[in-house]
Amino acid sequence: MTTFAELGLHPSLLRAVTAAGYETPTPIQSQAIPPAIEGRDVLGIAQTGTGKTASFVLPMINALIQGRARARMPRSLVLAPTRELATQVAESFTTYSADSQLTMALLIGGTSFADQLALVERGADVLIATPGRLLDHFERGRLLLSGVKIVTVDEADRMLDMGFIPDIERIFRLTPFTRQTFFYSATMAPEIERLTQEFLSNPVRVEVTRQATVGKNISQYALMLPPGPKDRIFKEKRALLRREIRQFGGEITNAIIFCNRKTDVDIVFKSLRKHRFDCAALHGDLDQSLRTKVLNDFRDGGKRLLVASDVAARGLDLPNVSHVFNFDVPVNPEDYVHRIGRTGRAGRHGIAVTLVGKKEEKAFDAIEKLSNSEISRRTAQPGRHRSTQQHPQSSPDDNEGSRGRSRHDTSSGKKQLKRRKRTRRPSLPPVNTSEPVVGMGEHVPAFLKRD
Ligand code: AMP
Repeated sequence: MTTFAELGLHPSLLRAVTAAGYETPTPIQSQAIPPAIEGRDVLGIAQTGTGKTASFVLPMINALIQGRARARMPRSLVLAPTRELATQVAESFTTYSADSQLTMALLIGGTSFADQLALVERGADVLIATPGRLLDHFERGRLLLSGVKIVTVDEADRMLDMGFIPDIERIFRLTPFTRQTFFYSATMAPEIERLTQEFLSNPVRVEVTRQATVGKNISQYALMLPPGPKDRIFKEKRALLRREIRQFGGEITNAIIFCNRKTDVDIVFKSLRKHRFDCAALHGDLDQSLRTKVLNDFRDGGKRLLVASDVAARGLDLPNVSHVFNFDVPVNPEDYVHRIGRTGRAGRHGIAVTLVGKKEEKAFDAIEKLSNSEISRRTAQPGRHRSTQQHPQSSPDDNEGSRGRSRHDTSSGKKQLKRRKRTRRPSLPPVNTSEPVVGMGEHVPAFLKRD
């Protein structure tokens, strides 16, 4: 197995990865870092959770360690589709560059333009930016991209979804032709393929997961609702969701509830709160400081449930998500794979539950086809709110509790919830380290192993 020392990284980076608790490189790191250090372009086909961020941030720092940026002339550029992803890359940069004197500016919307400008004016070795904000700075004439040596595009497929491809093309054209390019995408749509052909020069192609694969460590099932008018189904889904959450009880460390529409995020969030669930909501309309607060709260365990839209939650690295609930079947089957990929991170076990209305069955079939898997279907019995099988992870106590006390979502449910809050959360089963770890090959970070 490759070690970090064999990858050719500067000693200060070896110290930084050790300090971060990494023992061995993940597959994408061991395959992408050596050619990147040699100066090759890299085309990385990888999802979050594979260690991809370090696979481009480490060689970038390695190349920049000698030398300093001049005023307004950054030496490298990382483009990320959302503010949260840009912030995550910036956090990784800060971790890995702790021992070097490199400077960084994070250019994202929702935070002070003047502060960002001051950093750029002073000279930043690395700019980490969303495409729109970067172009805003450029158009004001306060930024020169002619000194950029390395450009990274992260989550290109997401850029495509969000309509950023013309911005990316423009930014590529503003940087020197001789630059080195790292380009990462979870999937290779034809438009992405075209972009790599035009802007990458003889890249090393590194692929760590198949397209649209679902982790083996994620148990999935669907609750099939009977036909009915839209409003009634919406109401029944809310009741089913509450029942599911109650049945899992303390097994839930963090759960994300996905809705297709922003308005539904609001309604489901308010409904859960009304029923005294400890939850927060995240969608694209929230201002940046609130989004950051919500996410930090969720990450730190301050809130256990997060109701979110796809745009808000895709690509986020939230390591403790034990459950994903799809309140709706996503219209785009690939979104299903991204949604449930929020759980089962880095080898942990995850559970994904999807509520399927009669009219959504076609979209659900498409998901099974895309992910090449058969998802167990259970008949939801609205009103009585029982599914036909037990949960793969639920303990006898949980089932007993729900059978005895929680047939209906009324005051008995509330009592049960209160009782659950008082009891200690049962611990999750140990990670089976003999099984391959999804996206990380044989690699299981030591700090994730549970005894
Ligand atoms: P990413 O795919 O870049 O979003 O990384 C997923 C998670 O894996 C992050 O929390 C990283 O800190 C962590 N990670 C990255 N590389 C390693 C490694 N070699 N060993 C252990 N953890 C890692």
